Amino acid sequence: MITRPRGTSDILPGEVERWQYVEGEIRSLCRLFNFREIRTPVFEHTELFLRGVGEGTDIVEKEMYTFVDKGGRSLTLRPEGTASVVRAYLEHKLYAEGGAAKFYYLAPMFRYERPQAGRLRQHHQFGVEIFGAPSATADAEVISLAMALLQRLGLAGLSVHLNSIGCPACRPAYRQELQDYFRPHLAALCPDCQRRFERNPLRLLDCKEEECRRVREHAPQILQRLCPECREHFESLQDQLKQLGIPFRLDPWVVRGLDYYTRTVFEVLGADLGAQSTVCAGGRYDGLIESMGGPPVPGVGFGLGLERLLLLLEKGGHLHLTPPGPLVFVAAADAAGSRAALALTQQLRRAGLTCELDLTGRSLKSQLKQADRLRAAWAVLLGERELAEGVATVRDMETGSEERLPLGELAGQLSTKLKGRNRKDDAGITY
Ligand code: ATP
Ligand code: MG
Repeated sequence: MITRPRGTSDILPGEVERWQYVEGEIRSLCRLFNFREIRTPVFEHTELFLRGVGEGTDIVEKEMYTFVDKGGRSLTLRPEGTASVVRAYLEHKLYAEGGAAKFYYLAPMFRYERPQAGRLRQHHQFGVEIFGAPSATADAEVISLAMALLQRLGLAGLSVHLNSIGCPACRPAYRQELQDYFRPHLAALCPDCQRRFERNPLRLLDCKEEECRRVREHAPQILQRLCPECREHFESLQDQLKQLGIPFRLDPWVVRGLDYYTRTVFEVLGADLGAQSTVCAGGRYDGLIESMGGPPVPGVGFGLGLERLLLLLEKGGHLHLTPPGPLVFVAAADAAGSRAALALTQQLRRAGLTCELDLTGRSLKSQLKQADRLRAAWAVLLGERELAEGVATVRDMETGSEERLPLGELAGQLSTKLKGRNRKDDAGITY
């Protein structure tokens, strides 16, 4: 038997409804915030991620699914969303419209990682990007969108961990200071950090290894070393978050793994997910678009992991889904009924009624059993006798009572009954 590749998952009926619920909330919030959806290819030229994500990052160094196609091109399965959105923005000259451009995506991402709960080789992200907006208001807007989503889903208790990592004016001096601090401790650090030390020393601050965390305790912090412009930006962001009533805490160890971040970086952590506790991570990347060959357009955004979000929702008992609407089961009593069943189903479906019929030629008795299993509201029985009289027998599956209705009136009458039922069902829904 062939099984699915390690680190991937099948989202089966029964679970997929949870995804649809979360995705529905995301889409409706994005509408409210006026972000427009963008869909980019699942694979891109490898070069895009080398430049857009940055060499020296975990993604580029260890995690990319890269392959050579039959034409000899090096392609890579998308490991994250921002680089592709920037590419599309430049390729289609969307910057020519001027002003801020606001995008969102819901898409699978691919990373070669050690699979565990909340860490997969194919995972899914909801992400947003705002291009062309330099002010801290844009940072506050993306953070408030993430928090609005979490609140809508019932995760109001999560707080934002916020930091600024400066800009090309103030970061190099800090970087140097950081290397000077860590140099005497190099031997005690994990192999990853030893590697990061030269290329990406800021990453030493967010290592999850215990020893590295101990060493960093007294490391210099960047907030005291920001240039006046970065400081002003960061203060303005904090002001706006306070105005919005969004709780946050300053966390000097949030630095993000991607090279292109400037100024604001943030993460939203959920409890109980261990090393996989970051649900949402984002920040500002003012240099990225220009470094990819575009005009000097600033950007800010986040990526939010849907698997981790769903884990949190499940753990917190926050998934109260609307039960599916009532179903009509069209059952055939004999061969004549069987021949007419699909056409009757079509008529009912055209009237907006959710219908099922027997596709396996089972006896009437087992058809009714199946209707019961599917929790059908009604079974519509059709046989030679009914057809000759132009009627169908409608059985209320809850009470067992039956009535005969003219075939021409069936759709209308069931729709009317359904409206009464819907009101009854709605009353008990908690979400
Ligand atoms: P981590 O430190 O957990 O590896 P990351 O810094 O690699 O996270 P990002 O690149 O910022 O993560 O991705 C944004 C979000 O996507 C993460 O906060 C997380 O929720 C989710 N995510 C990232 N990698 C995975 C994965 N392999 N499996 C499931 N979700 C993931
Ligand atoms: Mg990672």
